[in-house]
Amino acid sequence: MNIPSAYIHIPFCQQICHYCDFTKFFYNERLADEYLEALEQEIHTYIPGEKARVRTIFVGGGTPTAVNHQQLEKLLDMIDQHFDIAACEEYTFEANPGDLDMEKVRLLKSYGVDRISLGVQVFDDDMLEKIGRVHKVKDVYTNIDRLLQAGLSNISIDLMYALPGQTVEDFERTIDEAMQFNLPHYSSYSLQIEPKTIFYQRYKKGKLTKAPEDDEAAMYELLQSKLSQAGAKQYEISNFAKPGFESKHNLTYWNNEYYFGIGAGAHGYLPGKRTINIRPLPAYVKKAMADGKPVLHEEPIGRKEEMEEEMFLGLRKTEGVSKDRFGEKYGSPLVDIFGHALINLKDRSLIEEDSGYIRLTSKGRILGNEVFQEFLLDD
Ligand code: SF4
Repeated sequence: MNIPSAYIHIPFCQQICHYCDFTKFFYNERLADEYLEALEQEIHTYIPGEKARVRTIFVGGGTPTAVNHQQLEKLLDMIDQHFDIAACEEYTFEANPGDLDMEKVRLLKSYGVDRISLGVQVFDDDMLEKIGRVHKVKDVYTNIDRLLQAGLSNISIDLMYALPGQTVEDFERTIDEAMQFNLPHYSSYSLQIEPKTIFYQRYKKGKLTKAPEDDEAAMYELLQSKLSQAGAKQYEISNFAKPGFESKHNLTYWNNEYYFGIGAGAHGYLPGKRTINIRPLPAYVKKAMADGKPVLHEEPIGRKEEMEEEMFLGLRKTEGVSKDRFGEKYGSPLVDIFGHALINLKDRSLIEEDSGYIRLTSKGRILGNEVFQEFLLDD
């Protein structure tokens, strides 16, 4: 089975942020020990023999670095036992500023981790507190410094905008401070108020107001213009990188390629199916320990769904969807499958075609859902 990527989920956090709807739990040493045992069972079920050769590994969360040193070493060792790290082109760990002491940084580096994604969000201590983060701006400086000292310079930081009470000027200050680090990669997401979050409860009670839509649009435009001036090219709706530093792992998703989804609540994409793992921690641990298959749901994916997803996901990329690649992958030219949608969307100036690629126009980016609907095929 040739699976190019692996996503491994570590669902522990030192705090629960007010906007977060990821699979996460307060860190607890005993639970984390149990979880790592279960995780090993699951990995072993997928990879019982020789080490798997994958192009990318992404360890996300939660906060993978929220576990203690011993547990981090156990996790790194378990990954090393099952994946051929030397053959891996990109090995990313997510981390939160404040969690990374020098010992953890050295440990990551010694096991071949070569990319760090830091959850910075904003350079504003008051706002960090308002959104439920426990780190301070100074932790970002300390952590980036430690990573650079250890030779881990392939760093990405996540920024958030459209936060309650955040003005366009506030976000501009965050972008400016983030850019001072001159990092190779930046991701930025607007706040989504998701059910089962603290913000959702406040919003429902009328105690939280979303940023005005015009402000949100202005923040996004500012982000695009500032980062592009600094040489970080936008290669996806929310992602910016210096040439050669685009996230290979995330491109696996947008190129609609297969990946293992391992850990509580993780999503995977394997030949013919998408998988969703059990989310509650005790149930995940119990099932993984029983048979190594803690899958909650498997959704069959046929050729029709694959082609639809090729468009939905591929159009997130700035370069768009390659007509040649589509034809090679599915054995039919893209125009034969989606000819009607292409004409319709071009007429409405929602997509454009250039050098063999179909991509969203700026109007298409704003009206993304209308575009994606057009690529739904009849049964
Ligand atoms: S650190 Fe990340 S995963 Fe954990 S609660 Fe905050 S946003 Fe969610």
